[in-house]
Amino acid sequence: MVSLGTPGNTVDILKKYNFSFQKKYGQNFLVDTHILEKIIEVSGITKQDCVLEIGPGIGTMTQYLAENAHQVVAVEIDRALIPILRDTLSSYHNVDIINEDILKVDIKRIAEEKNGGNSIKVVANLPYYITTPIIMGLFESGVPLESITVMVQKEVAERMTVGPGTKDYGALSLAVQYYAEPKVMMHVSPSCFLPKPNVGSAVIRLTRHKDAPVRVREEGQMFAIIRASFNQRRKTLVNGLSNAAQLRLPKQDVAEALERMGLPPAVRGEALTLAQFAELSDILTEKRQENRKI
Ligand code: SAM
Repeated sequence: MVSLGTPGNTVDILKKYNFSFQKKYGQNFLVDTHILEKIIEVSGITKQDCVLEIGPGIGTMTQYLAENAHQVVAVEIDRALIPILRDTLSSYHNVDIINEDILKVDIKRIAEEKNGGNSIKVVANLPYYITTPIIMGLFESGVPLESITVMVQKEVAERMTVGPGTKDYGALSLAVQYYAEPKVMMHVSPSCFLPKPNVGSAVIRLTRHKDAPVRVREEGQMFAIIRASFNQRRKTLVNGLSNAAQLRLPKQDVAEALERMGLPPAVRGEALTLAQFAELSDILTEKRQENRKI
């Protein structure tokens, strides 16, 4: 395999097709073979795996995935890249290229069609402008998933891994940790990309939990509470939650729930663990049911 992942080979392809980068699509192509090999290694893909790649670009990482996995499905939004991909990946018969927006495509159906509904692995150098909707969409849409190994902005990788009491802790940390075990595998310098991004990058692996680490009666409500808590980060939970119109929680119920949990009345969301958010949600569900009976 002649790797596209060198500056020289990437520039040759770009020139051949007269391709111009589209900033709006977060196009920063990997041009470092060492990093590409490392991503394949930490993703743990095997010849049995069906891999979903989001944003294949000119097919640089796709080559490595095709060599190491059973099947690769690559979803690319930019129509200008499709003829390039058909050329650079022409020698692989285990790659499907789909010209779609990853936020609109039915990934569950793809997993069903390409892998009989069995778990897939996601490996990608993500377009950074939509990292959160991509990750949350993968988890929330019920796609059978084993792991997600992705390049993201360094700060976003940190946000996914931190716990309560840190400034980066928020809705993304809690959501990711509810669904998966996150682990930062390596940091990657801007010089490994063409063009160079103006932020640092990191490869993070999210290994899907077999069983959720907490049990909660109404998952949707817990996430609505989490989002409302961090939307108004500087507010106390009592004020933040009772002000959130969509939750319709009486202030007194929130105050009583926190008291029952042994938390101070002025506590903020950033101090609560995932287990505490689950407990708070369950108490508020109970209270709502009691209020209905009255
Ligand atoms: N995988 C290539 C690499 O590592 O060199 C390119 C990675 S580049 C950071 C992100 C890629 O995602 C680009 O090819 C871009 O066109 C594509 N992309 C951006 N938004 C997308 C979307 N909504 N759906 C699918 N692909 C998208």
